[in-house]
Amino acid sequence: MRSKLVAGNWKSNGSLVSNKSLLSALKECSIGPDVNVLVSPPFAYLSSVVEDLKGSRIEVGAQNCSAYNSGAFTGEVTAEMLKEVGVEWVIIGHSERRALFGERNEDVAAKVSKVLAAGLRPIVCVGETLDERENGRAETVCIEQLDGAMAEVKVDERWVIAYEPVWAIGTGKTASAEDAQAMHKVLRAHIRTVCGDVAEKVVILYGGSVKASNAEELFEQEDIDGALVGGASLKAEEFAAIVSAAGN
Ligand code: PEP
Repeated sequence: MRSKLVAGNWKSNGSLVSNKSLLSALKECSIGPDVNVLVSPPFAYLSSVVEDLKGSRIEVGAQNCSAYNSGAFTGEVTAEMLKEVGVEWVIIGHSERRALFGERNEDVAAKVSKVLAAGLRPIVCVGETLDERENGRAETVCIEQLDGAMAEVKVDERWVIAYEPVWAIGTGKTASAEDAQAMHKVLRAHIRTVCGDVAEKVVILYGGSVKASNAEELFEQEDIDGALVGGASLKAEEFAAIVSAAGN
């Protein structure tokens, strides 16, 4: 049995004041025994969020990390540094990083390898654009991204995969539970082919306009093990309702 995971991605949002009030509301939310929860604030707030969440069951993730070790890489934050400040998870290869910052599959693979070497857990995002879906290429694109991500290290139970169709991110459009399940099944089957039985243990999240009103139906699907939540993770009540849909 895989535990459920609900991961919030705050993107480039927040302030010291608004983070405090969001976190104090989230700390009150009830989390089922088989549910894990994490929030991923911008780098600047990681230490203070880790501090604020001490003693709670909510863990902390980063939204990116360097593909390199420490050194002359201005502006980069290494996985080791994230580990040192108490981060446990790192989102890698989010579609915004791929589309806006030119992140390629090889960068994703290098970052995953650094994350694992630092003892952190990667949440690796894959997903097709609308054009790719309409041209019947959704599965091929997602599998190419997954294979690209494991160019250096193969998937094992430390990995979390997030299927995030690009056309559903921040648009209010969600993949139907059936379409999302179908892609999760394809991804799990591919992991089984390449990496063996560990596929049954790998948590695969759905992401793309998940909210309180659609979370339950998504979480009922056999291969959907939780959600990567953007916009709704900034609203305490909405996020708490998604966490509760994952199990009590
Ligand atoms: C995301 O940022 O990964 C995401 C899925 O965003 P949203 O939930 O806002 O679509």
